[in-house]
Amino acid sequence: MRSIADHQQAVAELLSPTLQGLGEETIPLDLARGRVLAEDLLAPVDLPGFDNSQMDGYAAGPPGDLANTYTVLSAIPAGSTETRQLGPGEAAPIMTGAPVPSNADAVAPVEQTRPSAFLNPGESVELPPMEPGNFIRRRGSDIHIGQLALRQGTQLTPPQLGLIAALGLNRVTVLRQLRVGVLSTGDELLPANRESGEASTSPGAIHDANTPMLCAALESAGALAIALPAASDDPDALRESLAEIPDLDVLITTGGVSQGAFEVVRQAFPEVEFGPVAMQPGGPQGLGRLTGQRSGEQNSVPALPLLAFPGNPVSAMVSFEVFLRPLLAGDRPILRLPLLEDVRSPETKHQIRRARLRPEGVELLGGPSSHLLHALAESDALVHLPVGLTDAAAGTEVEVWPL
Ligand code: AMP
Ligand code: MG
Repeated sequence: MRSIADHQQAVAELLSPTLQGLGEETIPLDLARGRVLAEDLLAPVDLPGFDNSQMDGYAAGPPGDLANTYTVLSAIPAGSTETRQLGPGEAAPIMTGAPVPSNADAVAPVEQTRPSAFLNPGESVELPPMEPGNFIRRRGSDIHIGQLALRQGTQLTPPQLGLIAALGLNRVTVLRQLRVGVLSTGDELLPANRESGEASTSPGAIHDANTPMLCAALESAGALAIALPAASDDPDALRESLAEIPDLDVLITTGGVSQGAFEVVRQAFPEVEFGPVAMQPGGPQGLGRLTGQRSGEQNSVPALPLLAFPGNPVSAMVSFEVFLRPLLAGDRPILRLPLLEDVRSPETKHQIRRARLRPEGVELLGGPSSHLLHALAESDALVHLPVGLTDAAAGTEVEVWPL
């Protein structure tokens, strides 16, 4: 049986030409959330761009004849464009973010002045003792012009989009999105995008959970997900349906890969390699290239790569997390946390349990079964119980991936 690491490697090799050849595009910043930077981004300007006040207060010039007592000048608001010099013994009311006069020593917060108020020009104010530079945010103290702001390969999150905007850029060069088709299989499936919002109660039928779940997972990893109509358990029909699918870089199927009598994905694609991976859930896996299929826009890539995930929803989701997500959006952070209860795990399998992060450790939710979608939905972490670990007592530290 193949190890998780070997299968991860096989998936990485299968998709490597596609991922390497994606190409890039420059898009408006407001469309860039979740997209992946195609090149290192260097700061085109200093941030802050000028010395500015960290407080509402008084910018103090060189001390005058009267220690601590200053003559008040007109106020400097945020956005002020005047360049001002302060004379000895002069202080200007200044607002947070306003440019600090170039010869100001420091800013005194208004709550520390006497009186604690913004006075009119010509009046006298008493300032507290100040260290030079107090409450002045220096030009370039956040990032200097030319410095590496964000690394190539970064998936853009809200703070990173904030940084790019603050640097004055309104377009960003990102990798073209990987176009991934999601195709659930099974005669029993009711499509997820039915007209009626009501649950159907046909006997033996189940609602397709995998298509919307995997599409959302792909989108959150920066890919473009294309939900394909669910396929029946007829291998010829499945094969034929692929003739009509849009341009894709990768196809994911769910279901039809285990040891049952109607394993449609196995039957439809003899050119693909199927086999068990020593993992639970997500054991049955298939991967390969579909012969006779176009692949995206790249001629260099021979044929459409297929990842065949098992059908149980938790298996499908765990398969995505373990095999595909790291290639699209990088590894999840890895924590080591104590278990809050005793657990058992099969010796020859790497078991992945669903869990919730608690202040004291990690709490397992639901059992190991791969149909427990409610428990997955309540989880915010995956817990890894590697091959060889059979019993772990509460308090044992285990590897945890926060989701
Ligand atoms: P399979 O691998 O096709 O035998 O499917 C395993 C189990 O997962 C069966 O109970 C299926 O009904 C269920 N299943 C398969 N595909 C889906 C899906 N798209 N949504 C929800 N459950 C599914
Ligand atoms: Mg099936």
